[in-house]
Amino acid sequence: MQTNENYHNMRQLIDKELNLPSLPVIAVQILNAVQKDDTALTVLGEIISADPALTAKMLQVANSALFNCNGEITNINRAMSVLGTNTIKNIALSFVIAAEFNDPNAGGFNHDRYWRHAVTAAVSAELLSKSFNLQYNDIFVTALLQDIGMLVISMTKGDEYNSILKEARLPHADLSVLEKKKYGFNHQQVGYALLTNWLLPNSICEPILYHHGPQEGTEPRCNPAEILQLSNQLATIYTGSETAELARKCQLTLIEKFNIDEAQALDLLDAVATNSSKIITTFELSPREIKPYSSLLQEANAELAKLNTSNEQLILEMQEAKEKAEKLNAELQDANTRLKELVYRDGLTGLYNHRYFQESLSHELARANRYQTSVSLIMFDIDFFKKVNDIHGHPAGDLVLMNIAKAVSGAVRPCDIVARYGGEEFAVILPETSTAGAKVFAARLRRCVEGIATLVDGQQIYVTVSAGATTLNPKGIATTKDVLIETADRGLYMSKQNGRNQVTILEPETSLNQ
Ligand code: GH3
Ligand code: MG
Ligand code: MG
Repeated sequence: MQTNENYHNMRQLIDKELNLPSLPVIAVQILNAVQKDDTALTVLGEIISADPALTAKMLQVANSALFNCNGEITNINRAMSVLGTNTIKNIALSFVIAAEFNDPNAGGFNHDRYWRHAVTAAVSAELLSKSFNLQYNDIFVTALLQDIGMLVISMTKGDEYNSILKEARLPHADLSVLEKKKYGFNHQQVGYALLTNWLLPNSICEPILYHHGPQEGTEPRCNPAEILQLSNQLATIYTGSETAELARKCQLTLIEKFNIDEAQALDLLDAVATNSSKIITTFELSPREIKPYSSLLQEANAELAKLNTSNEQLILEMQEAKEKAEKLNAELQDANTRLKELVYRDGLTGLYNHRYFQESLSHELARANRYQTSVSLIMFDIDFFKKVNDIHGHPAGDLVLMNIAKAVSGAVRPCDIVARYGGEEFAVILPETSTAGAKVFAARLRRCVEGIATLVDGQQIYVTVSAGATTLNPKGIATTKDVLIETADRGLYMSKQNGRNQVTILEPETSLNQ
């Protein structure tokens, strides 16, 4: 306790700066009554019973779960014999002081919040003391009054103090330090000054003076000032804004200080809420549900689960959309391929058409020029095909065309391009094929067609072809697509002239020279 000169100066400063209110008359009577040991019981009982409202509240609290007397106490005398004079005195003092200093019309300083926090802290302190058998008989009223200095400063300093309180809510700010800086004293010292003025016992005054910096180790496990500090934190879980962080911190302190497990610590946190909800109403504070921390946690987890579910749902929908898009894309590519086929294929034979032949030949010529390779072109025409149509009919002619197309397609390499040039005339582009290669292939082609039998009405139709071939050789002179086609076509014409069913090979140069 500060009895030195410093304390004396500080007390003078408090008296100069603040108006310390006097203790309500009924509280003085209660304190006086308990000092007279022999008559304490009767006098205290009479004082309380004289105030029916106070009596009703006293019985309500005495019968609450916090004091373990569920419903068995029906009058003040019974309450005193079960709970003891000291407890009854403390509860009575708590009610009287809280009623006197709760001013709902005070501007700036929120009295309702202040008392709600104070009662929750008192309940926490009582619970801690009971749970761990600490025998701190005055702890409820002590915790209730721990911050009464704030109320007193606010009564004199008004808005000036309210702005200090506001500043103290910033991260890492310390209210006591800010108060000391502004006034030369803090609210613990003011509370201590007030309560000693009121002649409250040291067991109440001293822990209040030290509740922001409890001296460790003076009691076996946890001294009253430490209980006050812890009760203040427990109350802040339910009245402040940083619930989760503070709850975790309190749980850890409880586990460490009282050697309990996590579940027991959580039970204590919950008990603060359930007991406070009931006690707060007896203090005539606006009733408001205080949800136990575990239900707050459950609700938070449920919200989290909901968020996760919607997240999973979203991912699922996105996957479905992606799969749908991929399917559509595949279908589109398929359609494009089929469209290209339609554009580039001949309807009757399935061979490449004239247009594709033209484009491919340009392409292969450019490639052969760039890489200095050969490309050969063979053109062939069915001999006397008109007769086939005339004798066997046009559909039979179609069958012959189809059979030749099929046979030729099967006889070429995958990179060779077989096209229907028009009517009964065909063209084959042979990339990277020299004159010699073209000659061999053309001969093979001619023989192949010769051997195809088309069966119509039990009759076998055989046809022959006349072909012309030409080659662009790497060492030969540069040539164009049209010259190449014209040369091959000229070779074909020469084969017809020379008796059909034969191949004529011509060099492009020859054609140029002519
Ligand atoms: P040559 O040996 O001189 O080539 O005699 P050819 O009878 O084969 O020549 P011509 O040019 O006189 O006749 C070609 C015939 O090919 C005429 C035409 O009816 C027929 N033809 C062209 N395209 C088709 C077709 O798609 N189907 C059928 N069945 N006949 C066709
Ligand atoms: Mg013909
Ligand atoms: Mg013809």
